[in-house]
Amino acid sequence: MAIPEGQTGRESLIKKIEWLQHLQLTNEQIELVKQYRCLVDIHGFGFWEWNYTNQTFHCHGQLCLDAGYSQEEMDAIEHATEIRGLFYPDDLDRALAIVRQHVYHNSPIHFSFRMLKKCGEYMWVTTMATSLRDENNRITNIVGVIFDASQLRVTREALRTAELRLQRIMNASNDGIWEWSAKDKKVEFSDRVLHHLGFKSIEQLVKPGESTITAWMRRIHPEDLKAFKVEVKDCLTHRKALDFDYRIADRDGIYRWVRTRAHAKFNQKSQPVLISGTNIDITEIKLAQERLENARDQAEKANLSKSKFLSGMSQQLRTPMNAILGYAQLFEYDDNLTDDQRNNMHEVRKAGEHLIQLIDDVLDLSKIESGNITLANEPILVSEIVKDCITLSHPQANKYNVTLTAETGDTEPLFAECDRVRLKQVLLNLISNGIKYNRPSGWVNINVFFHNEDEICISVEDNGFGISEDKKDKLFQPFNRLGAEKTAIEGSGVGLVITKRLIEMMGGDISFYSQEGVGSCFEIYLKRCDDWAESDPSSLGKIMPEERKIHLSVSSPKTVLYIEDNPANIRLMEKLFRHVNNIELEIAQEPLLGVYKTRLILPDLILLDLEIPGFNGHELLEILSNDPSTADIPVVALSTNKSAELNNRLNANKENNAATGSPSDTQGQGSPSGSHPDGSDNEFLDINNAPQFYSYLVKPWNIEQIIGLLENLFGEKTVQ
Ligand code: ADP
Repeated sequence: MAIPEGQTGRESLIKKIEWLQHLQLTNEQIELVKQYRCLVDIHGFGFWEWNYTNQTFHCHGQLCLDAGYSQEEMDAIEHATEIRGLFYPDDLDRALAIVRQHVYHNSPIHFSFRMLKKCGEYMWVTTMATSLRDENNRITNIVGVIFDASQLRVTREALRTAELRLQRIMNASNDGIWEWSAKDKKVEFSDRVLHHLGFKSIEQLVKPGESTITAWMRRIHPEDLKAFKVEVKDCLTHRKALDFDYRIADRDGIYRWVRTRAHAKFNQKSQPVLISGTNIDITEIKLAQERLENARDQAEKANLSKSKFLSGMSQQLRTPMNAILGYAQLFEYDDNLTDDQRNNMHEVRKAGEHLIQLIDDVLDLSKIESGNITLANEPILVSEIVKDCITLSHPQANKYNVTLTAETGDTEPLFAECDRVRLKQVLLNLISNGIKYNRPSGWVNINVFFHNEDEICISVEDNGFGISEDKKDKLFQPFNRLGAEKTAIEGSGVGLVITKRLIEMMGGDISFYSQEGVGSCFEIYLKRCDDWAESDPSSLGKIMPEERKIHLSVSSPKTVLYIEDNPANIRLMEKLFRHVNNIELEIAQEPLLGVYKTRLILPDLILLDLEIPGFNGHELLEILSNDPSTADIPVVALSTNKSAELNNRLNANKENNAATGSPSDTQGQGSPSGSHPDGSDNEFLDINNAPQFYSYLVKPWNIEQIIGLLENLFGEKTVQ
């Protein structure tokens, strides 16, 4: 508190004590007066006394000074009516009414009003008073305290504004609010919580003598009640935020979906004190979700049956089409036909071939859409596929007089992770489009390059017709030929759809840019990978552990024939066999060459890749087993499709067992040892009930499997 100038607190006190001594009061009285004076000096407080008999009014205390008035000014007030001027006009009548009530009914005097400050502004003050009455109960004096309530008022205003805002938000959000308190074990609901269930008051929800929480849980759907209790327990014991959807019966017993979100408050002993939460009625959202899921299920079912129907139809159409085409070809060789008739037959044949192509495309598309297609993604040397595709596309390019070139980055072999057969299909389609939708003497160029560190790009660029802007967004729509159906250029309009889906199944992507009249460029992005046989340390590590050297003792020289078309796999196998003494590895890159070599060199073991396109491993095996000179050579099948092969074998096994009545046996017969060479049975599918193959190896195989196999057949293995 600031001390008035020229007068220290001590000087003032001495003066006051001298004055009190002058009144010749007792020490006790002086003490009392000193205490009273302390009260008077408290900032923000004042005292007033109204002599009701003669209507004089006295006011003193720090509040009057705080309001800018001097004590002299306050002392100058003589009549009670003079203080009316200190009231904000709107507040005066209310104040007088309260005083009147007190006079007649002795009701408490306690009110707030705006008091005029010396500077002309108003401040909020609160006053409380009581009265002294004579023996006739007539008021003689009214005495009161008055204090500064502006801060209180500001806080109360802020609180009220916040409350109103919250109320507005809650009303707008349609959320119900509730609070559970541990103290009285009661739940308080806002009206909205009750309205969600169609109740108007809490009494309608809660039965007499029942707790609110029991009444609430009584209505929860029996299937959701247990989970509800678990969620609440988690919230109370593990301080987990409560966020839970459940069904609860409304007033008419119809279940509605409610989402409850809440947080618990804990005391210092970690005991829950409060849980405060909100309820939202999510019935409409849940119903919409349900409708959506049903619609999706139905669409999926419809799509599946459509795919099944298409695939069935396509298969059915193929058989008669073969006959039609066969006879059409025969007619072309018939000398009895006139040139005109022969030309007509040629047209029939051409249309038939187109129809077959259409059937194949539709079949392919329906297989992809129904998920009936599995891809064998593996590291593929892209340049080789490109070269194959160029060779295969040359006749078509010549027919259209289009030049076909390729830049395959030969100096640096680029490997991509993809399915060999499907990549070929995709590229052949893009090249064919580049040729078909081109001008005479046009060109198509294929380029292979690094798109970025992780991806390889294969681009197929042409300087053909290009695609106009308005058609670009329809490019990958099934059966949309973008107007090409009006031309003589053959096509089905599904090639690009199939292409896109296949690339996506290989984990890649496709994009294009095109300008009408200038040309188009389609780019395929595929995951880049290193040749697992040469450089990928992780995959090679699996196959060729650096720290271990494998010694396989084979008493007499042996020969293994590997029938495989994939150069990467061939290199891998060659590399592996370099570590094995006394066993020679022979390679046949084509199945027929494999049969020829088998007869020529009579190998001690054949490793046969089952994924060579357009060839059936079982047929090759049949050829070998029908030939007495090769029948006893063990043939091991290499496949990427573990489950398919396993299922085939097991099914064959089951059928055999059903026929013979013997129990299922997946051990034994085929393999001499009757068990996995290295003791594990997870990768080495030794399903020996298989009548033909010696055993199956699932790609990517590892060194242990191959060495185990060789050891089984030819000798003993030592691992250092
Ligand atoms: P289609 O069997 O008709 O060739 P696609 O799905 O392969 O079916 O292609 C769809 C359509 O996209 C084609 O009919 C053609 O109009 C257009 N198109 C595809 N590739 C090219 C291209 N390289 N240049 C111009 N138009 C193309």
